[in-house]
Amino acid sequence: MAEKRCYYEVLGISRTATEVEITKAYRSLAKQYHPDRNVGDDEAKAKYAEVDEAYSVLNDESKRARYDRHGHAGVQGGAAPGGGGVDLGDIFGGLGDLIEGMFGGRRGGGARGPRRGESIQAVLDLELLEAATGVSKTFTVPSEQICRECGGTGAKTGTQPAQCRRCRGQKFEVVNTGFGFAERVRCRGCSGRGVVITDPCPACRGAGRVEAREQVTVNVPPGVDTGMRFTYPAAGHAGDPGAPRGDLELVIRVREDKTFERDGHNLICQCPISFARAALGGPVELTALTGEKVTVDVPKGAQSHTAVVRVPGHGMPNLDDPKRKGDLLVQLVVETPTKLSAEQEQLFRKLAELEGTTVPAPRKGMFSRLKDLVTGDGDQKES
Ligand SMILES: [Zn+2]
Ligand SMILES: [Zn+2]
Repeated sequence: MAEKRCYYEVLGISRTATEVEITKAYRSLAKQYHPDRNVGDDEAKAKYAEVDEAYSVLNDESKRARYDRHGHAGVQGGAAPGGGGVDLGDIFGGLGDLIEGMFGGRRGGGARGPRRGESIQAVLDLELLEAATGVSKTFTVPSEQICRECGGTGAKTGTQPAQCRRCRGQKFEVVNTGFGFAERVRCRGCSGRGVVITDPCPACRGAGRVEAREQVTVNVPPGVDTGMRFTYPAAGHAGDPGAPRGDLELVIRVREDKTFERDGHNLICQCPISFARAALGGPVELTALTGEKVTVDVPKGAQSHTAVVRVPGHGMPNLDDPKRKGDLLVQLVVETPTKLSAEQEQLFRKLAELEGTTVPAPRKGMFSRLKDLVTGDGDQKES
């Protein structure tokens, strides 16, 4: 089959089409290419299938969103003619293979064949340190899987499902749409299976599916941020027997850290320094996010809150190239001593004497420098 056409193009609508517009376009095209009106016309048959497939995706809000984001690969499976297609694992650059030792079933499934399983969406909460270093997480994913007892047929072992009388095993029935033409829809007597269960499997009570709780291990690469999505193919719900499983779609959420604030690839933190260190300058040591000790050079005459020292390479790693890291921006905060030793008090008194009662003139723009460096939220308004 030639390259798949854009679904919007197939239905002749714009990407911003409303639900009503989509349905209207579908109705009109389905009528035009309907097999009942084009008996023996293979081209019309193919068109009808194409229109049907486009509609099944664009009429489903979540599928449409996935299609808008990832194109055909995002909604691959389903009613895809010819099967095959793009593997999501490739799109996500090697991340797809990070589910370890899981489930053989890859996508496939022929045209109009068994339905692919639904995807599972989940949020993965991470600490900032885990986002910085990368982490391996194992958790339980509840999903629907094919009942092993009956192999998904729903029929008790030793019995066979009976042919559906409503559709005589055809899986479809013809209904009047009220739009002046009849339409083939999934049989309501057997939900499109073509068979009905007369003697249900005790393990799944005839559903053919059971609830499973599977352990999934994912390796989160360093540098992830809140809102990033990772798709792990074939870790979702089971599809119809013989069809591929859905995917597991993880959305990353990085928790706020008590000490470090993230600003893209940079990290921001505060470092308390003494009066003397602020006045004289010199090195102070602090602990970076990863626990590494870093030395910060306090400039002579550093002003509390406005003095920011940049420590290169101690920010967040770049997702594409973890060796490339952002910077750590250290905001220096001068702490006023509350307890003085006798000697310290004597020295401060001496200092006060030297300073006399001279009051410095008020200054303007104290925060501008910090804002430049820290893309200011302006919330560190103090003193
Ligand atoms: Zn069963
Ligand atoms: Zn039926």
